[in-house]
Amino acid sequence: MTADSPANDATGRKVRVRFAPSPTGPLHIGGVRTALYNYLFAKKHGGDFLLRIEDTDQARYVPGAEEYIMQSLEWCGLIPDEGPKQGGPFGPYRQSERKELYQRQVQSLIDQGWAYYAFDTIEELESMRQVGDGHAKYDGSTRMSMRNSLVLSKDQTEQLISDGVPYVVRIKVPEQRQINFVDRIRGQVSFDSKELDDKVILKADGLPTYHLANVVDDHQMKITHVIRGEEWLSSTAHHVLLYEAFGWLDTMPEFSHLPLILKPTGKGKLSKRDGQKFGFPVFPLAWIDDNPEESFEGFKSVGFHPAALVNFLAFLGWNPGTEQEVFNLEQLIAAFTLDNIGKSGARFDYDKALWYNTQYIATMSPDELLEAVKPFLLQEGLDPEDPKLQAVCLLMQDRIKTFAEFPESSRYFFTGVKAYDVSLVRKKWNESTKNLMQDLVHHLQEVEQFEAEVVREVASEIINRRGVKFGDILPLLRVALSGEARGADIFSIMEILTKQETLERLSGAMLSFTQIVEMPE
Ligand code: GLU
Repeated sequence: MTADSPANDATGRKVRVRFAPSPTGPLHIGGVRTALYNYLFAKKHGGDFLLRIEDTDQARYVPGAEEYIMQSLEWCGLIPDEGPKQGGPFGPYRQSERKELYQRQVQSLIDQGWAYYAFDTIEELESMRQVGDGHAKYDGSTRMSMRNSLVLSKDQTEQLISDGVPYVVRIKVPEQRQINFVDRIRGQVSFDSKELDDKVILKADGLPTYHLANVVDDHQMKITHVIRGEEWLSSTAHHVLLYEAFGWLDTMPEFSHLPLILKPTGKGKLSKRDGQKFGFPVFPLAWIDDNPEESFEGFKSVGFHPAALVNFLAFLGWNPGTEQEVFNLEQLIAAFTLDNIGKSGARFDYDKALWYNTQYIATMSPDELLEAVKPFLLQEGLDPEDPKLQAVCLLMQDRIKTFAEFPESSRYFFTGVKAYDVSLVRKKWNESTKNLMQDLVHHLQEVEQFEAEVVREVASEIINRRGVKFGDILPLLRVALSGEARGADIFSIMEILTKQETLERLSGAMLSFTQIVEMPE
């Protein structure tokens, strides 16, 4: 048995996990990490990975969010086996389409005395909260002084319902009980029922709350393991009570609550605003809103390889227990175990994300890289069909951290040099370097096979013959051809530019350099 065998699943059921986001806006990378861990766990055990859209909170519903979630998963390669798009034997996979099912289940809880109708108005709830220390809950200590079906007679209750008085249904939390469950990551977790309130399970609009719908669906969809964010740990006490109330304890899923993703400072939870604040994305894809404050960049839109994001996220809270850091999805599946997930928060480190990206960019074929940089070239008004592109990709492959950096760092290939690094020219352009450059141009004209290695040899010979330092002339050559003082191998740049273009740029630069040094500073 491997460490990750579904230990609590006494019935030996097939592993089934779900990612259950609420479509309330773009999916934060914390959500993507949750999806990823679920996916890895399912695939590791030959199980199923479900996507369930938890859209019962109509007030928080954001159009486009569901599509965004699906596109994000797709981009990361985390394709659900069942879900709103894929369908499956346990659908529908959107909670808003399962309304009747929840209502039936709620009725069964009411019939068994595990839940009750509550007709309290907002004002009544408000004055109940003022009782005692001002933080009173709707629970065993207050429920009998409220307007609900525990207090009212059956006839009164029925009358109110038929009069159309708005009501909710609440779970009746038993008193003086310890609610215990095992969390795979945190171990034994225990709640005293006096900490719990009688949570609403069915709202006045007839839709269930998260707690009820989540438990009913996990049961109906035969979920064996719940892997979700730490923020749901305290809700689990209510969920366990619901499993008990429904008589489903024997197939209750095993819970794993994932550690938080922390800000780069290590202090506090990474929030959607941190992206704007620290200047990195915290979403997988860009999210465009009419309000610019609510629009966000994504890892894709700033030029990440999806496998780099996936690899980076896998390590935010998990580690393989070895030194190896680069894992593609297949390797992650093989290495993943819930037991190697830590309890403490994982600090978000954007430099690490960039490091992963360079690792993946380095493994791409020129064609793949070309495809990946195309949208960024278009964005920058460059021609994605330029015949030099493939060679430039090859040259820049180990120099860029993101695809978005490509147009910027290679623009000079396509548009010519817009401006020279003036301070470098002033420092290095003099009679001797001018003579050398002229000599070089002269010799380059004679080169027939204009390839990097040939040109390098020709240039080296001249430089050596004249007894100058490479450091005196190479930067000038680079500025002449690219405008910049630093960059890729100068002879490879020449080969890509071709002989004609190289000579034209060198000649043009020589004139400009002389003008630059003659200009008063
Ligand atoms: N709908 C919840 C969310 O938005 C799901 C939590 C869970 O996985 O149980 O995160």
